[in-house]
Amino acid sequence: MTQPTTPRRQFLKISGAALAMIPVVAFSDRAFAATNAAMRGALKYQDKPLADKSCANCMQFVPGKTATAPGGCKIMPGDTEIAPSGYCAGWAKKA
Ligand code: SF4
Repeated sequence: MTQPTTPRRQFLKISGAALAMIPVVAFSDRAFAATNAAMRGALKYQDKPLADKSCANCMQFVPGKTATAPGGCKIMPGDTEIAPSGYCAGWAKKA
């Protein structure tokens, strides 16, 4: 015998699912990590430097929380996973 689904029962079910997701969003530093695949491909981004050229010494780099943490890049909008030791064709020496 199945019980009829009431709006209150549905609300509790949905609320429970929403509550279960909160720790993922609230306690994960990487919750908003994103990459810009199109720009990475166009500029041939790689996670390793090219000789002495790296994101860490590029004028486009936006540093992360620490010297080794991933950061951003001014010409790769929305990308939060740029490695300080990475490199791409857009590299320009930091002044
Ligand atoms: S332009 Fe390229 S080398 Fe410079 S910070 Fe952005 S991804 Fe790194």
